Amino acid sequence: MNFSTRPAVLDLIGNTPLIEVTRIDTGCCQLFLKLESQNPGGSIKDRIGLAMIEAAEQDGRLKPGGTVIEATAGNTGLGLALVACTKGYRVVLVVPDKMSVEKIQHLKALGAEVHLTRSDVGKGHPEYYQDYAARLARELPGAFYIDQFNNPSNPLAHERTTAPEIWEQCGHRLDAIVCGVGSGGTLTGLSRFFRKAHPALEFVLADPKGSILTEYVESGKISDVSGSWAVEGIGEDFIPSIADLSGVKHAYTIGDEESFLSARELARAEGILGGSSTGTLLAAALRYCREQTQPKRVVTIVCDTGTRYLSKIYNDNWMIDQGLLKRETFGDLRDIIG
Ligand code: PMP
Repeated sequence: MNFSTRPAVLDLIGNTPLIEVTRIDTGCCQLFLKLESQNPGGSIKDRIGLAMIEAAEQDGRLKPGGTVIEATAGNTGLGLALVACTKGYRVVLVVPDKMSVEKIQHLKALGAEVHLTRSDVGKGHPEYYQDYAARLARELPGAFYIDQFNNPSNPLAHERTTAPEIWEQCGHRLDAIVCGVGSGGTLTGLSRFFRKAHPALEFVLADPKGSILTEYVESGKISDVSGSWAVEGIGEDFIPSIADLSGVKHAYTIGDEESFLSARELARAEGILGGSSTGTLLAAALRYCREQTQPKRVVTIVCDTGTRYLSKIYNDNWMIDQGLLKRETFGDLRDIIG
């Protein structure tokens, strides 16, 4: 392999399409979807993978032949593996052992080294994936710890790329953006751009039931009790340091069932296969749109591709086992398998 030329695939990151929802009831509003699933690594995280690696190259924290380390259970790992492996870096990802086999094999296919750690231990335990990754980064010479939750290049990637793309694609006519928060990079980057470009724009938070973020937005209280949810990539039990929630005007709490059924509806009605967080964002966006009395132009995000969830939200048997789908609506699969 010749690592001295820039990998052409990196030019495919960003500039994703924006399309209108036309077959689902959006009340008096127009709802548009930013298809981040169309990035080459299949998610919005390709953007930050590129930004965080190139910033570290530019300021010398990452040198040729160096090692990139991150603790990640999902899309950030795939984005980093895509960018850093093709650029010739060693990529070490520390992953809790509950993660799906497909994701681990995808990471390995791209050339990443995967260290599996225990999922049943919490912060402060040496086997907890974030503590484990931080320790590896200290021990391995030439290693750079990405740390997306504290890395300023994460929101910057969205301020510089995702936000201006949305603004141009809407023809500078936009009233609200519906967004989720994992690290907070997307919301913070979009907020910074639109605070200058279009201060009247409303930010709407889509939050899984069990996350503490909705309560924080509504009352400023940081709860020390969180629940659990099955939607992946969004919702938190703490406030990430880079997350700026100050511009959020409305927040909707969405349960797993509504998220998953919304993702399934999007696939059937519009032909767009999104992941579980897409379902949460779509459900919140539809609630927001249907509550409006004046027509508004609203954008939300298809954060990642649904192919990562075929064995879960798009699998009727799994949905029934989780109690999220009733047997009466199981007709299709039974017709096929008899
Ligand atoms: N959706 C998915 C599928 C994700 O993986 C993430 C990131 N964890 C998000 C949404 C949220 O993005 P951010 O980290 O920028 O808040």
